[in-house]
Amino acid sequence: MKVAVFSTKPYDREFLAQANLAAGDAHQLRFLEPRLGIETAALAHDAAAVCAFVNDVLDRPVLELLGAGGTKLVALRCAGFNNVDLAAARELGIAVARVPAYSPEAVAEHTVALILSLNRNIHRAYARVREGNFALDGLLGFDLKGRTIGIVGTGRIGICVARIMVGFGCRVLGFDIRHDPEFTQIGGCYIDLDELLSASDIVTLHCPLTPQTHHLINAKAIDAMKPGVMIINTGRGALVETRALIKGLKSGRIGHVGLDVYEEESDLFFEDLSEQIIQDDVFARLLTFPNVLITGHQAFFTSDALTAIAGTTIGNISQFERTGQPTHPVSVEMLA
Ligand code: NAD
Repeated sequence: MKVAVFSTKPYDREFLAQANLAAGDAHQLRFLEPRLGIETAALAHDAAAVCAFVNDVLDRPVLELLGAGGTKLVALRCAGFNNVDLAAARELGIAVARVPAYSPEAVAEHTVALILSLNRNIHRAYARVREGNFALDGLLGFDLKGRTIGIVGTGRIGICVARIMVGFGCRVLGFDIRHDPEFTQIGGCYIDLDELLSASDIVTLHCPLTPQTHHLINAKAIDAMKPGVMIINTGRGALVETRALIKGLKSGRIGHVGLDVYEEESDLFFEDLSEQIIQDDVFARLLTFPNVLITGHQAFFTSDALTAIAGTTIGNISQFERTGQPTHPVSVEMLA
């Protein structure tokens, strides 16, 4: 099958080419560096499948262009599908596939890396020591043992985070619209969202971005949290209202923020902009806080995860070619 792969980075090329080779060189992969959007959709012309990533735009106008060019499948090489207009895809007869689980551990472990780094100020200590400053003032942390962590979304990643934090001796609370018995078995306790927000020393987000979860963490939610709370978001940027976050940081109500995602990340992340002036003033303000640690959507970025993502993506495409259905379809019903 002809596949147009958008937002290609060298590592995508390497892992997808390997997976395709392992599948007997089943597909013709056309690697394209640009992000998919209205201006670039024409590059997929003639490709029966389009392979897209988190910040590619797959709204109705883009899907219409893809459909007109002969695209029958959108194979997302990620778990989230908030960037696809699923209703439009269905109307246009374009199937959508994703990689539901590649390495929840990769994202969970990065989440814990943010928690540990922020708590013990590793990001500041690293810079200080390199400058010959060995003073400890300002680096004070707290023991995780006995602290309460609230996990919003106890799916694959949330459960992994829970398992790790139980190991640290934390009290683990969870909020989810569906209860998973495994969460309780490993020592987690389900409560409602308001209670979770008011009881947690750390709040970490692992639910998908949907109309219901958009700006889940807003000014009201922040007001309900413990003073000094640590907020971690490795889910999707728009789960958090960034301006409310900044207000909470300025007032001192929020103690720490760790972000791997940002609501306007599509103009920033995955590119080297080190020679440019950042035009996003909200993001630039976030960078000024010493108690904020941001990574550029790298939580998934392990060799194990990339191998699994590439394998499942090629599998989705092969299965679609054989049967007309990908192995892991995404449908509009999944938003309900
Ligand atoms: P998952 O589907 O296994 O789990 C999501 C959980 O959220 C489910 O249990 C679901 O019931 C719950 N949920 C849905 N709506 C909710 C709501 N309104 N309130 C509370 N809970 C709700 O997904 P996952 O594999 O654990 O991934 C979670 C999210 O992490 C993805 O949707 C994606 O956006 C994000 N993610 C980020 C990265 C990264 O690199 N930063 C990588 C992979 C996934």
